[in-house]
Amino acid sequence: MRILFTLTTLCIAYSSIAQSDYSNVQITAEQLSEHVYILYGAGGNMALVTGEQQNYLIDDQFAPLSDKILFKIKSINDKPLAYVLNTHWHGDHTGGNENLAKEGALIIASDRVYDRLKEGQQSARRTTPPAAPEALPVISFSDQMHLRYGQDAHIHAMHVNDAHTDGDSFYYFPEENVIHMGDNFSNAKYPFIDLDSGGDIDGLLSNLNMAQAMLNDDSKIIPGHGPAATLKDLKAYTHVLETCVELLRELRDKGMTAEEIIAENPLAEWNDRYGDGFIGPEAFIRSVLGSLD
Ligand SMILES: [Zn+2]
Repeated sequence: MRILFTLTTLCIAYSSIAQSDYSNVQITAEQLSEHVYILYGAGGNMALVTGEQQNYLIDDQFAPLSDKILFKIKSINDKPLAYVLNTHWHGDHTGGNENLAKEGALIIASDRVYDRLKEGQQSARRTTPPAAPEALPVISFSDQMHLRYGQDAHIHAMHVNDAHTDGDSFYYFPEENVIHMGDNFSNAKYPFIDLDSGGDIDGLLSNLNMAQAMLNDDSKIIPGHGPAATLKDLKAYTHVLETCVELLRELRDKGMTAEEIIAENPLAEWNDRYGDGFIGPEAFIRSVLGSLD
């Protein structure tokens, strides 16, 4: 009872803080290519694709921001928002689904996003209630699909390896030389490997390398969080994560426990730069050890 009470109090406190924060949030846009913009606000970065007949939005942050997001889109391209695509199921990327669906957008995501939004989640770490029916994808895919926003232009949706969650997708715009990588790339903080949602560090490293192979020096990358990036930034980030994971693998293979590894502080060199965000050094180490092959 006491734990429940504390949790409830925390949730109320958190949501009231969050709501007052949203009232001050501005949605800003930066054009990355002829038809693609990155939109920043509070929560996961969004991509706007301005099609000939309609707009496409990748991710939609939190519900209280939907009106501001729609207003921003209208100021860029006065066509309807026809499609909303989710990179994964977390609330800071899907919180606007219900509102935007009610405004007429079709929600699209991988099958696992549909499953997880529909089921909700209860774990020792977090409780997420099932999403409203309107928030669920009406089109979902298991592997890949193309959405054509012009005669010779398309969005390539690809469900990638289990990484941040098991429902992660990249949305690649080959004609624009832009990609949205969702939370596979947190520019530039330790990643959140959500073990409760099927996350896996090996899959994350594979996905980062796969993205590199698709891109070139002129590519623009939309990370799940942090500023828009380049291939150079992605390479540097991947190198740091691979180095950290290799170090942790060696310590694990020596037979050290998670507690012993954490006590040794093996990532001290990178913690100031990469460990001061949502995921601190200890959480990162635990998630790596919890999913490393
Ligand atoms: Zn996420």
